Parts: sequence; C-alpha cells; structure tokens
Amino acid sequence: MSDYSMLINGEAVSADSAIDVINPATEQPIASVPAASPEQLDTAVAAARAALPAWSARSMDERRELILKMADRIEQNMGELAQLLSQEQGKPMEGFAGLGAMFELGGCLAWIRYTASLDLPVEVIQDNDEARIEVHRKPVGVVGSITPWNYPLLITCWHIIPGLLAGCTVVAKPSEYTPLTVLKAMHLVADILPPGVINIVTGGGEIGAAISSHPDIDKIVFTGSTRTGKRIMESAADNLKRLTLELGGNDAAIVLPDTNVAEAAGKIFATAMINNGQTCAALKRLYVHEDIYDEMCEALAGIAASVTTGPAGEGPDFGPIQNKMQYDRVCELAEAARADGATFLTGGEPMPGPGYFFPVTIVKDIPEHSRLVQEEPFGPILPVVSFSDVEDALARANAVSVGLGGSVWSSDVAAAQALASRLECGTAWVNNHAMIQPDAPFGGVKQSGVGVEFGRYGLVEYTNIQTMQIAKG
Ligand code: NAD
Repeated sequence: MSDYSMLINGEAVSADSAIDVINPATEQPIASVPAASPEQLDTAVAAARAALPAWSARSMDERRELILKMADRIEQNMGELAQLLSQEQGKPMEGFAGLGAMFELGGCLAWIRYTASLDLPVEVIQDNDEARIEVHRKPVGVVGSITPWNYPLLITCWHIIPGLLAGCTVVAKPSEYTPLTVLKAMHLVADILPPGVINIVTGGGEIGAAISSHPDIDKIVFTGSTRTGKRIMESAADNLKRLTLELGGNDAAIVLPDTNVAEAAGKIFATAMINNGQTCAALKRLYVHEDIYDEMCEALAGIAASVTTGPAGEGPDFGPIQNKMQYDRVCELAEAARADGATFLTGGEPMPGPGYFFPVTIVKDIPEHSRLVQEEPFGPILPVVSFSDVEDALARANAVSVGLGGSVWSSDVAAAQALASRLECGTAWVNNHAMIQPDAPFGGVKQSGVGVEFGRYGLVEYTNIQTMQIAKG
C-alpha cells in the first residue's frame, strides 16, 4: 500500500495522521493520504497568497502556455492515471458506451485545452469626448476548490483551470474517498507551474469547512451535495467569499407520446446510467406518456438485462457504487420503492460482496411520492413514472427544490423545445440528457447551485470587474 503526499508550495508534504483510501470493488484499502492539519491548510493558503502577485501579473498567453503543458503531461500519463482512477473510484477503464475512466481522462484534456483557448478581453462601453469607460476583468484572488468522488480529476480540472487562466492561485481539496488520481496528476504537473500556484491538501469535511471559512481565501468553487453547499455558503459569509456552487439535482425527463421508443431508449438508458448513475446531471426521474409507457419500460429493461456489473478487472459495463454511504442510500431507496408497491423490472437487490455492487435497476409502477422519485439516488437505479397529461408531468418535474437539468423527448422538436423551456433547470435538453461540453455554460437553478461553470461564462466567475473611467477634455 503506498502513501501519497499533499502538494504545498511545490513540495510533497505528509501529515501526522492519515486517511485510508478504499477500493470500492474489494472494500480493501489501496493507499493512504495525509489528513491535513489546520496549520498545513494555513501554509497552503499562505503559499497561494504569496504566489498570487507574480502569477496574476503574467500575461494570459504565458499562463495559457503553461496550462497547455499541463494537458500534455496528463496526456503522456493518461493510461496510468486512468488505472488509478478506476481503482479508487470503481469505474471500469472503458465501461458502458466507453464512458469509463479513459473517458474521464479524455474529458480532462478536452476541458483543459478548450478553457486555455479563452480570453478576457477589455470591454469598451463608452469612448466619446467626455470619457472612455473600460470594463476589465481582474483575478478574484486565492481560490479554494472542494470536489466530490464521482469524477475526481475531471471536476478538479473544471475548478482549477479557469482559475489559473484568470490569474488566480488555488488550494484544492479532493474528496477523501477519491484523492489519489488528483494527487498523482498534480504532482506530475507541479514543476510546470511556479510553487504555490496550485496546492493540494487532503482531508475530510473538517478541512473542507476550514477552507470555506478561511479568511485569506477569496472564492470557493464547490461541487457536491446541496447540504454541504449550504454549509459552505454560511461559513463563506464572514469575508464575503465569491461562490460557485454546483450541487445536487434530481433531473426529470418527459417522454411525449410521439417519441420513437426504439430510438430513444438507448440514449435514455445511457444518460441515466452514465458513471453508474453517479453523475450530477444524469437523468434521474423518467416520466413517460401512458401510450408508450409499457413499450419504454420493456425497452429499458431489455438493455438493463444485457449489461454487466462487476470489478473493473473483468471489463464490465459498470463498476461498484463508489462508497458504502452511497451504496447504503441506493439500497434504502430501492427498499422504499418496494414498500411503496413498485415493480422491479431488473435488479433491485444488492449483489453479493465484497464490493459495493448494485445491479442496474429499472423500476416501474412507482408512485410519485416514493422517495426514489423525490430524492436523488445517485446510483444505478431509475424510476419510470407514467403520465397522461403533459401539464401534470411538467408540474411534477418542477415540483422539487432542485433544478440542475431536465429533458423532453419527442419527434416534434419544436413542441419539445417549447415544453423544455418551461422546465425549471439550468440545462434543458431536447432528445438528449446529461450532455455537457467545455464551451456551454453549466449550472443549477433553485437549490442545485449558484453560478455556472465552463466556457466564457464560467471563466468570468474567477474574476472581479474593475470599471476604468478615463475622463477626457
Ligand atoms: P459531499 O457534499 O458529501 O462532499 C463533497 C466534498 O465536500 C468532499 O470533498 C467533502 O470532503 C467536502 N465536505 C464535506 N463536508 C464539508 C463541509 N462542511 N464544508 C466544506 N466541505 C465539506 O458530496 P459527495 O457525496 O462527495 O458528492 C455527491 C453529491 O454531489 C451529489 O448530491 C451530486 O448531485 C453532487 N454533484 C453535483 C455536481 C454538479 O456539477 N452539480 C457534480 C457532481 C456531484
């Protein structure tokens, strides 16, 4: 079992105590990482603060060049990083529809390279005899990044790359469940950047809380649960930190009666089960018109029955659920659905251990009030609910406190788009779901978050505006 180090001010740093990282397929520890002390966090923040003036004074082009070197270094080590990711996260190397560990690594490269191509041009909003008024974008300062366990390296890249490009320095904390790939990747790129520009500290919620209340951090970018997001918002209030919060969702999809079931079922399955359902923007509640309800349920059950779940080494479609807490939650929601009288077309019972394996589960005839419909399962289980009236389906889709994504499926694209625009969510898809890309803004409404990530809209969240007024005459 190997020990990993934090990255503070360009140095590998250990700690007095350690946290074991468990392989979810075996339930055995595979490595340990330092449990950062509050003093070590202070050192990391001080290093980021010290590195800030020189880093932010560099030109965008200089920073861009170094960021692109980071992508090249990650690409050179892609296979090794993907193996480590597969071990700690549980996702297969390839997996269903090729959406496994290699896909996450490919996503990292795509996001880093696209983000590096962005600019922050000065906007001139007035230039006349009275004055010239320019809008400048200044780096927000030291950024604290806190990430979850579903896409550990990809989400870390989403957080730190726009920050670095904008001229910020970073203190990042990966999830205590999946810190290894992030540590490995960031040590690999450490020599490309000046010391202190990126710092990685490891630990649990207490270190996350210390980051979000730290007086010398200017902004928090957080991806994780709504519950934790609320805590972060509270503790960030003291020095009025800027916040980008990407939180939980419970995405609804509405399938209209003119949908071609044979064509749609494959996409619906893939976007519900992406990363074993452990995806914030996965399709999580499927509302199907009663005319095609049985046909859709059968088509989904057919696909579910043809896929495999098992340890990554066996080349399955899906791996284990990433951790015991989430596995217990999926088991609990399945039990609740059973108690509510739902029909299980596939799966429904945990698989024999070791490992947190739960088979792909399609649930039919489930009442709207069931916890499996009302709460985000974040696992390989999909409730399929019948509706007869579109307005009723829309009302049910919107009747939750979260609003990350949503979709409408139909062969009439205009009608689908009109309905999709009435979904209360940050991204609405027509005849698709869960598709995100580096240039399209992504974020939640209601309790799914604050702000957006990706592209120009995401980049400006790492800046403050400085309006420059130059009097003339
Ligand atoms: P989580 O909120 O439990 O943990 C996320 C991170 O927050 C971890 O690094 C954890 O150590 C840290 N943390 C825990 N307590 C903290 C505190 N009090 N203060 C600061 N940090 C703290 O979430 P999770 O279980 O790792 O992730 C699953 C959740 O994340 C799901 O709800 C999912 O929908 C959401 N998610 C959202 C997106 C998105 O983009 N909207 C993406 C992925 C996951």
